[in-house]
Amino acid sequence: MSYLISGMAANNTLRVMAADTTGIVETARVKHETSATATAALGRTLTGSLLLAQVLTKRDHDRVTLRVQGNGPIGWIVCEGSKDGITRGYVKHPEADLPARESDGKLDVGALIGLNGDFAVTRLLENTEPYTGSVELVSAEIAEDMATYLAHSEQIPSAVMLGVHVNAKGVTHAGGLIVQAMPGVSDATLAKLESNIKNMGTFTNAMRLENGLLGAINQALFELDFEANPNALELLWQCRCSRDKALQSLTFFGDVERQEMIANGGQEVVCHWCNEKYLITPDELSKLELQA
Ligand SMILES: [Zn+2]
Repeated sequence: MSYLISGMAANNTLRVMAADTTGIVETARVKHETSATATAALGRTLTGSLLLAQVLTKRDHDRVTLRVQGNGPIGWIVCEGSKDGITRGYVKHPEADLPARESDGKLDVGALIGLNGDFAVTRLLENTEPYTGSVELVSAEIAEDMATYLAHSEQIPSAVMLGVHVNAKGVTHAGGLIVQAMPGVSDATLAKLESNIKNMGTFTNAMRLENGLLGAINQALFELDFEANPNALELLWQCRCSRDKALQSLTFFGDVERQEMIANGGQEVVCHWCNEKYLITPDELSKLELQA
C-alpha cells in the first residue's frame, strides 16, 4: 500500500509530509511500460504531485498538476495529485532511456528531462479558475526544481527529497518528503535539518536501510522531535477516464469520419493518462449524438 505521513517537528517550526509511493510508481511503470530512467522521472513527479497537493490545496478534491518539460529525450512529464491522495501521470516518450550516471551510478533523470525548460504547477481548486505558476528548470532532477518552485513562486522555504529505485524486476522503493520551514524557525534547526539530509544519501536508500518510510523520516528529522499525525493517508493510482468520456471525445468528429470508424469495425480511444484502451463498437458509434 502507498501512504502519506504528515506531522510537525522542532516545536511546530517544521511541517513534514512524506510518502511511500512504491506501489503507485510500479503501477505507473507497468501501465506505461516506461524504461528504468523514465520510471524514475515519472515516479519522482507523481510523488511530488501528491506531496505538493498537501502543501498547496485545502479541500479533499482539490488537485495540482505538475508539468515538467526540458529539452531531453523524454519530452515532457505530466502528473496530477489530489489532496485526498489520488494520482495519475504520463510521459511523452516512455521508452526513452539513458545509461546510468558515471559519477555515482544513479539513473540520469536530469539528462533524460534536459534543461532549458519549465517546472509548472497548476492548481485545480473547487469553484476557482485553474491557476498556473512556473519556474525554469534548475537541475531537472525534480526535487531541486520543486524546492525552487516553492521558494520562488509560493514563498515557501522547504527541503524536498524524491526518489525511485528500480531493479530488473521493477520498482523496489519509491517515495519522498517535503519539510516546510514555518515562521519562527531557528537557524540551528535549519542547519540540523540540512546536515541530516546531507548525511542521508538518497531517500530510497534510507527507506531500504532504515525500516521503510518512517525510518527515512526519522533520519531526516534526527534530533528534531518529529511527531506524526495519528492517521496516515492512503495513496492511490486512479485515473478519471471512463468509457463514457471516451464516447464523448468522439462526438467532436463529423458524420463522414463516424461512418469511416464504423466501416473500420469500430474506433479505439486511448487515455493518455493511464494508457487504458476503449474499443468503441460500430453500434455505439451509430448511436452517438455528434456535436457538429
Ligand atoms: Zn485513464
